Amino acid sequence: MKNISLLAATVIVLLVTSCGQDKTVRPVTDPTIVKALASVNIDSVKTYIDELVALHTRHTLSAQTDPEKGIGAAVDYLAARCSSWAEAASSDRPKPLVEKVFYTVGEKGGRYDRVTTVPELMVTLPGTDASRDILLLAHIDTRVLDVMDSTAFAPGADDDGSGLACLLETVRILSDMPLEQTVKCLFVSGEEQGLDGSRHFAELASQEKWPVYAVLSNDMIGNSRASGTLLHEDHKVRVFSESRNGEDSHSRQLARYIKEMASVYVPDQEVVLNYRSDRYRRGGDQRYFQVEGFTAVRVCEYCEDYERTHQDVRSENGVDYGDMPEYVDFPYLVRNIKVNLAAVLNLAMAPDRPAKARIANANDLDNNTVLVWDPVPEPDGTPAKDVSYQVLCRETSQAEWLPVFPMGISDKVQGVPNAKGQMEFTCPLSKDNYYFAVRAVSAGGHPSLPMIAL
Ligand SMILES: [Zn+2]
Repeated sequence: MKNISLLAATVIVLLVTSCGQDKTVRPVTDPTIVKALASVNIDSVKTYIDELVALHTRHTLSAQTDPEKGIGAAVDYLAARCSSWAEAASSDRPKPLVEKVFYTVGEKGGRYDRVTTVPELMVTLPGTDASRDILLLAHIDTRVLDVMDSTAFAPGADDDGSGLACLLETVRILSDMPLEQTVKCLFVSGEEQGLDGSRHFAELASQEKWPVYAVLSNDMIGNSRASGTLLHEDHKVRVFSESRNGEDSHSRQLARYIKEMASVYVPDQEVVLNYRSDRYRRGGDQRYFQVEGFTAVRVCEYCEDYERTHQDVRSENGVDYGDMPEYVDFPYLVRNIKVNLAAVLNLAMAPDRPAKARIANANDLDNNTVLVWDPVPEPDGTPAKDVSYQVLCRETSQAEWLPVFPMGISDKVQGVPNAKGQMEFTCPLSKDNYYFAVRAVSAGGHPSLPMIAL
């Protein structure tokens, strides 16, 4: 038995080596990020969800002035939590900014019985460089079976208390961390009525020209049981990325990035890439960010429980219905919060991706592939110092990028400046057999999103 295990181990090592997955070119594990992830607190997460559920309903058309119930109380609760962390943040970094935002609903009918303004919340954690924004989304509002019922008990512990808890922990932990890039947590309303709150933010981001680099919408990340099939899956989480811009859209690159960072920092949680915009007949808050042309994905539990979400809280034929906290799988939710943080913190400390990358010898019968890309610039336009590049490849039917087999070339020197001031790397893999991409890596080992070479 022992010999068989040894043989299996040897085969695995050889396979890993021969397909180029050399661990020396994997992202460096940053102890700051490891520490941040370790500080995600399960008791805090439980408290947030209990306190949100205690507000009875967070329906978009529910009370705005009742201090104990409704969407107004929910926004006040989230704002108070975030403001307390912002005030306590150390003074040697820019203070987080907590802002209530209002928008008008009902002008075009839809799932509204009146024209009114509704609140949502934006928390900005400013970066020192601040040339790219990383956005995290979750929706405040809840519903029962009747989407127009704004007074019934609608706890929304998982949908989307779980996403709100993720954003709250992010604000709490990042309030006291130095960030190069700005992280914005958008607590949106109007999701259940037609994605109106996130559409408002997406349009605002477009109009105000926010430098949006990546959007992660967290909607239902705390349930691990599938109704009907009773499948229990607490070590997988889905990341949906839109398909209309092809398999190498920026959104899909972001999805792959989240999976890779999770494999490094949260190895007991598998990110399952779902190459769809969302589930059948359903959408989420990433949608209007995609419509505005931003890079946006949805993070969502692997199993869904239809006895929980969008249900009236009740017992019927021996079955308890309703989205109550006791059905949230908190260890699972904590792992999903860590998956978010691993991606967000790496993105917040990584350089920009190369603006352009191409295969320079596409017309040549050459089994080498010559890759050329624009160096990432400093603000004054000169090539960034302290940035190295990684060339990635994948076979045409593979889903995920791998670092190219370095063929004895150090990962740190992939790419040297050519006569035109571009970076160039001759890769001993055939362009006929692989797709290629290039990414920039910070001195601390944080990789950018990849840019595909065409
Ligand atoms: Zn939802």
